[in-house]
Amino acid sequence: MQIIETPVYRKAFIQYLRRGTPLDISLKAMTEERPTTHYIWRTTGDDKVRSSHAANNGKIFAWNNPPETGHPGEDYNCRCTAEPYKPEVSESSLQWVTSIVDEGLRRWAWYDFVLHYYFGGGRAIQLSDVGHLQDVIDASREHVFKGVERQIFKEARATVSGSFNDTFENTYRFYSVSFIHGRSTVEGRYNGTVSRSGNALYITAEVAYNFSDVFTDPLDIREREGGSSDPEAIQADELIDSEVGGQYYDVLDSWTTRLTATIHIDSDKSGYRE
Ligand SMILES: [Zn+2]
Repeated sequence: MQIIETPVYRKAFIQYLRRGTPLDISLKAMTEERPTTHYIWRTTGDDKVRSSHAANNGKIFAWNNPPETGHPGEDYNCRCTAEPYKPEVSESSLQWVTSIVDEGLRRWAWYDFVLHYYFGGGRAIQLSDVGHLQDVIDASREHVFKGVERQIFKEARATVSGSFNDTFENTYRFYSVSFIHGRSTVEGRYNGTVSRSGNALYITAEVAYNFSDVFTDPLDIREREGGSSDPEAIQADELIDSEVGGQYYDVLDSWTTRLTATIHIDSDKSGYRE
């Protein structure tokens, strides 16, 4: 049998051994199975409560994400307690791509982008024509999608009931897709609706994303490759050396998503904060 002791429980047990201080049963229960993922910080309310703990009084914290003070009872001589808190709202957020991602036949490598710089006559290319759209969308999920969700949640909390729309714009790096996609701009707009039930907000939104980048810098790419022995890379180098004048060109594409989310109306009680 394995006994798992939290620092809080261990400290209380030591106090019990040394001074006969009664063990708080809730600590023991908490140790064995924390009944909730969150708790409400409770102080004893007298004038001996340190100010940093008084500031936590009544606030909700997650067991897996302690405040700077640590959890109640962890600090020396702390008499604060953790009251189990069950969020009354079961939160979720899902955003999925609704446009068709139709990729080109062959995925462009970096030297294809360089060749296009010299021989494309400045013609813009679409990510989907060069097999990069799906990768860019996948790379967008963590930062771009989440950033847009935060903006939507903020607006939904301000709206509470009804429709809302706005635009967004930011620059991101897409080096994980290809180092040719350095600083790229993703801008777009969303149309959302929100309704309230109790402390829950139900949100749906349609989001349109536009990706744009300007290819300007083949020399930087060549330096990054640094003495590649790839024959195709060498061939591209020779082409650059032939001093064919290059032209900047746009790398573009767009996609749409749909978002459905249930979030707590109060950002402080929500896993989805702004
Ligand atoms: Zn305390």
